Order: sequence, then structure tokens, then C-alpha cells
Amino acid sequence: MERVFDMAPDDRGAEASLRPSTLEEFVGQDRIRKNLRVYIEAARRRGEALDHLLFSGLPGLGKTTLSLLIAAEMGTEFKASSGPALEKPGDLVGILTNLKRGDVFFIDEIHRLSPVVEEYLYSAMEDFSLDLVIDQGPSARSVKIHLERFTLVGATTREGMLTQPFRARFGVLEKLEPYPWEQLVEILVRSARLLEIGLEPSAAELIARRARGTPRIANRFLRRIRDVAQVEGVPSIHEQVAQRGLAMMEVDPLGLEALDRKLLGLIADLGGGPVGLKTLAVSVGEDAGTIEDVYEPFLIQQQFLIKTPRGRMLTEQAYHYLGRRLPPRPTSGDLYSSESSTP
Ligand code: ADP
Repeated sequence: MERVFDMAPDDRGAEASLRPSTLEEFVGQDRIRKNLRVYIEAARRRGEALDHLLFSGLPGLGKTTLSLLIAAEMGTEFKASSGPALEKPGDLVGILTNLKRGDVFFIDEIHRLSPVVEEYLYSAMEDFSLDLVIDQGPSARSVKIHLERFTLVGATTREGMLTQPFRARFGVLEKLEPYPWEQLVEILVRSARLLEIGLEPSAAELIARRARGTPRIANRFLRRIRDVAQVEGVPSIHEQVAQRGLAMMEVDPLGLEALDRKLLGLIADLGGGPVGLKTLAVSVGEDAGTIEDVYEPFLIQQQFLIKTPRGRMLTEQAYHYLGRRLPPRPTSGDLYSSESSTP
């Protein structure tokens, strides 16, 4: 995959080693897991490929992992690409023509596919064929290429950005929800075992409660805190070590990190908004797409931020959180009323 949000390169390898290798090991998302079991079993009995699937949900909730598990359970191969990587139809052809029956073709950030590539995918998804134009000028002609019946699995953090005709071509649409902290504890306990470090229950709870309902974040915290434990020479992560590790990463009790606070602080500096996404991106030195897909959803969910057509605005809660005074009430709109914070 070309771009994996929210991750340093060495984190990707570490993350792969913590991936569940069977659906049984995948914690939570019970309804989705149960449905997948049925679909997989039915497809296997019929000897057919699984229907195309679309997974939506915030980054790090397990969309890639589930897609890998589908291929594993189907006993087929997994090929991955991403919306931004598939720039032109030609990028698709090579991949699609090499897929075997039942293979899983995973497209991450599928909402970032260009419209031409998306349209090209339509016939591949529907008829398992591609119309290729070969040669140029007067001798140009179109040839139909037959494809094996593959399964397209799309992953998106922004389901709303997908066009209706595209969504309609997926047989299964599933939305992954953030995990309750108890399930993150389960994930952390398993990860600690794989990382060969002890993890005391109170420490696991502390980490889980700050991980924003996200396995990727929980595992990232755990790996950093393991470093602290190892440097301090303690064999098992206890609550104080976890506290120190979280403080080093500047994770606060709500799970907000430095960049979240920087974003909020910046909007406050600008009078509470509205501030455009591009301005925010340049000011904090982060990619606009990453801010939108990775950082903002949690700030909106926490009711610190609202999106308006004119830009991002802070809520009253955000000022309380930052410990700053509210700017004078705007004359129009009721931003600071209690119902103002719904996105
Ligand atoms: P996404 O594709 O949604 O961004 P990933 O599938 O890459 O998320 O998951 C991120 C990390 O979190 C991986 O290391 C994965 O193993 C772990 N993870 C995600 N969901 C679960 C789960 N339900 N149980 C155990 N580990 C999980």
C-alpha cells in the first residue's frame, strides 16, 4: 500500500506481526464477524468467489486485517493497492488480469480513487471483464478481456465520499465501530504476549481507555510503553510504567495527543474559526487528508470541533478543554448552544 495513515515505516512491520491470523483471534465486531462467517461458508460451498465487500470505519479499526482474514479463510490470495496508487486505468489492468478465481483484491482508501479508474472498475466488478483500447489513431480498437471472478474489498474512512453507483456495486457493506475499552484490553493482552512482555491488568486498562477505541492506537501505545519498561528494566508493564509512557507520548486522559491539541489551539488562536482545512494542514505541517481522516473524526466525536461549510470551528467544550476563555459570542448562529456540537 502506498500510504498508510498515522504510521511510521517501522510501525508497519511491527503492526503486521500483531495481526490476528484467524477470524477467531479477531476481537470484537461480532456482528460483522458472524456475517462474514456465513458469507464465506456459503461461497465456499458453492465454490464461488465472495461478493464484493466494502468496509468503512476510522483508521486502525481492522479493515485491512479483516480483508486479509477473508482471503485466508477462502484459501485464496490477497493483493493490495490503494486509491491514490491507482492513478490511471492502466494501473488496474496489470493487477486485475493476474487475479485468480476467488482472490481478494484490496483497495485501501477507496474513496480516493480517481473517477476514471472508478468507472473502469465498474465492468470489472459487474461482468468480470475489461474493455481495453489497444493501438492508437485509425487502428485503435477495443478488446474485451475476460477476468476471473475475484472479490474486490474496498476500505474507506469516508464512506460518504463514495458515489452511489459505486456503493451499489458492493454486495456487502459493513461499518466498523470503535471498540469498547474492555475489548481493547483483550487485544492488548494478546499483543503483550506476542511482544513477550508482561502487562498488568490495571496498566492494560489505562492504555485501553486512552486508545480512542482503536486497536492500532492501543498497540502503538503498548509498543512504546514496552520500550520504557525495557529501559527501566521491569519485566512487566505496571500502571506507573504505563503512566510514564503515556506522559512521554503526551497522551492525555481523553486520549488526545500533541497534534490534536495543536489543531484545537490553532483554531482558538484564530478566534475559534471558521478555519479552512488547508490552512490547518499548512499550519500544523500535516497532510490535509490525514487531518480529515485521522484527527478530525475523534475531535468531532468528542464534540470539540464542528465542520461548517466555511471551515472548522471550535465548540464551547473545546475552550473548556484547552482552559481558554471563550471569545465573544458571535452575533449570528448559536455555536455555543448545547446542540451546536453535532457535526
Ligand atoms: P485499518 O485497515 O482499519 O486501518 P488494520 O486492519 O490495519 O486497520 O488494523 C490496525 C492494527 O490493529 C493491526 O495491527 C491489527 O492487527 C490490529 N487490529 C485491528 N483490529 C483488531 C481486532 N479486532 N483484534 C485484534 N487486533 C486488531
